[in-house]
Amino acid sequence: MLDAKRFADLGLSDIARKVETGERLTIEEGRQLFACPDVTAVGALAHLRRTQLHGDKTFYVVNRHINYTNVCVNGCAFCAYQRAKGEDGGFELSIAEAVERLQNAPLPPREVHIVGGCHPDLRLSFFVDLLRSVQKALPECTLKCFTAVEIAHFATLEGISTREVLQTLKDAGLAMLPGGGAEIFEPSVRRRICPKKSTAEEWLRIHGEAHELGLATNATMLFGHLESIDDRLDHLDRLRRQQDLSRQNGGDGFTCFIPLPFQTENSAIKVERPLTGLDELRTIAVSRLMLDNIPHIKAYWVMLTVKQAQAALFYGADDLDGTVVEEKIGHMAGASSEQGLAKSQLEAMIRGLGLTPVERDARFNPVGPVETPKPAPQAADAPSPATLQGILDAVAAGRRLDFDSARLLYRFADLHALGHAAHKVRLRKHPEPMVTYVVDRNINYSNVCVCACRFCAYYRAPGDKDCFVLSFEEIGRKIDETLALGGTQILMQGGHHPDLPLAWYEDMLAYIKTNHPIHVHAFSPPEIAHFAKISGLSTAQVIERLRAAGLDSIPGGGAEILVDSVRAKVSPNKCPAGQWLGIMEEAHAQGLRTTATMMFGHEETADERLQHLFNVRASQDRTHGFTAFIPWTFQPENTNIVARPLTSPEYLRMLALSRLVLDNVDNVQVSWVTMGPKIAQLALYFGGNDFGSTMIEENVVRAAGVTFRLSQQEIDTLVLAAGFAPRQRRMNYELVPQAKPIAPNAAGKQC
Ligand code: SF4
Ligand code: SF4
Repeated sequence: MLDAKRFADLGLSDIARKVETGERLTIEEGRQLFACPDVTAVGALAHLRRTQLHGDKTFYVVNRHINYTNVCVNGCAFCAYQRAKGEDGGFELSIAEAVERLQNAPLPPREVHIVGGCHPDLRLSFFVDLLRSVQKALPECTLKCFTAVEIAHFATLEGISTREVLQTLKDAGLAMLPGGGAEIFEPSVRRRICPKKSTAEEWLRIHGEAHELGLATNATMLFGHLESIDDRLDHLDRLRRQQDLSRQNGGDGFTCFIPLPFQTENSAIKVERPLTGLDELRTIAVSRLMLDNIPHIKAYWVMLTVKQAQAALFYGADDLDGTVVEEKIGHMAGASSEQGLAKSQLEAMIRGLGLTPVERDARFNPVGPVETPKPAPQAADAPSPATLQGILDAVAAGRRLDFDSARLLYRFADLHALGHAAHKVRLRKHPEPMVTYVVDRNINYSNVCVCACRFCAYYRAPGDKDCFVLSFEEIGRKIDETLALGGTQILMQGGHHPDLPLAWYEDMLAYIKTNHPIHVHAFSPPEIAHFAKISGLSTAQVIERLRAAGLDSIPGGGAEILVDSVRAKVSPNKCPAGQWLGIMEEAHAQGLRTTATMMFGHEETADERLQHLFNVRASQDRTHGFTAFIPWTFQPENTNIVARPLTSPEYLRMLALSRLVLDNVDNVQVSWVTMGPKIAQLALYFGGNDFGSTMIEENVVRAAGVTFRLSQQEIDTLVLAAGFAPRQRRMNYELVPQAKPIAPNAAGKQC
């Protein structure tokens, strides 16, 4: 159910009505969707359409990509993959090599995707033999091969028509054409990015011919280079018209549309405003809404990243592509995703999203038994949509959320509605279009620890060969580097070292404060509890001593989940929940500000996550000392906990709920370190108002396998592109004076 008032306020009532009734949108309406300031509203419409078409079914295929050559005569300006004949790095697979690679796939593929460059010497007979050999080796498999551009090239080489080429290949086993080579149809852009490639008319004609011959095909759009929004809409409209025509002619037409974000990294085309994560999701959503006659929209994780593809499944996409195994074209252009995903990973990921995985073949026929889709929440013990909306409206207007209502929202509220309410609360608390961040450095002074938390990939036991304790001079050098980069604070945390006395920490603080003008944000509550144990002092006395030595504030680390039954499982040697909160309240009483974190997605239940939020809220009611709340997801790699990595929508749901529950905490930080920059941008529309920190050096999460890095300039660019003014702040959220504050850019403005 759509929130009618929300769409009326955005001037989208007519579009919302058309989406609900399945009516075709005009190009002008597509323009309105691209211009809409509220990207989550566009996402909500696209998700409604996707749900009308496919329910919660989410398709994937066990497939294998083969690129038979990168030698190409076309030399498209954007292509990082192509090599000229004889150039270093050029390759050609023999038929035997291609077949061997396919046979060596971890699972027999249902779909083989074979494409390559337009090679000057490979003749049609080679491809006929290739198809016959693959079909003989893998008779169960659908052959989805050769873009329309390759078909046109084969026709030129042979001096025959494209229809004759298609017929010849069909006779050899070809069942489908992939959608590549479409790029952008608009002629002037096409001339600049791929002047030698088939024209738009030729590309569409070849697909039309394929449809008439009974071949299914896919379609793509490469966006985010030199094209305008109108060019994207023109592209979608031409596809839509071709689909109408193909269907009138009795063909199935296009099966699936694949929006491909342009990868700037290794391309010769210089793009002034590279795509943001929000641009990508909006384009996927508008594609779903405009292409009313193409059944499926693919979130191609290779080009989007896995986390962004997960989010795209709530922005109109219903297909995740597949296992892929080895991909060259997108990766040579700079795609940072994995090379392949296991079938079990894909299924677990889809289930984690609350969707139903459907293994498909190339034409989207289910393979094997199809699971009964899970009952819609409304059919079980869920409240009515009106009740949920009532709770969301009340909390957005300022009413305090109780535990039972929070549980209802967490279980049943629509992701977009939850995000919208959280964004409203964020705007009520911070009406200015600004996103803050701190320039700081994480300094991990030691990795020696006696706690052995099961989720920790960072610590070393005393005596392990790679354990370390930094010297004061080394810490000083890191601080100098931080100050030189415009940093205002250091975040210092370490393990629970059994032999360092409290005096060592006091000396370290005194050394820092004597030599460096910097804010010291250090020692999470478990470290303070550890110092109390080794010194025989109370935690309040330890805080007093550290304050006197130079401690300025306390980070919210070591909270994980503030419920003792969870802590007993994952970090049994760390301080219990009550002590964590008690130490923070003692610090607040002594005038120190602190933050609070939550690490979720390991061995806790949904109710335990909520309990964590309510424990933080109750503590904040008592002392009002927390400046910010920072939820982030557990990273299982290299740890002793086996868990499925949480998906980006699960993160966004928790982030939004945190914003709604924690009405007394001013700031909520997004976690680009664990979610990546694209989802961090989206998180600014799910309750987050702060981009965290530059984390000049981060070791703890990196030890668990996460490697995102961002400079201050990159954070500025990301925040600006998301529609907000980036502002550097201090720990207490005071703004750092700037010679020339950056204003939000109207072009990038989203809200
Ligand atoms: S995009 Fe395709 S046709 Fe263009 S240069 Fe690259 S391989 Fe050749
Ligand atoms: S999380 Fe902290 S306390 Fe636990 S083992 Fe790692 S370093 Fe030690």
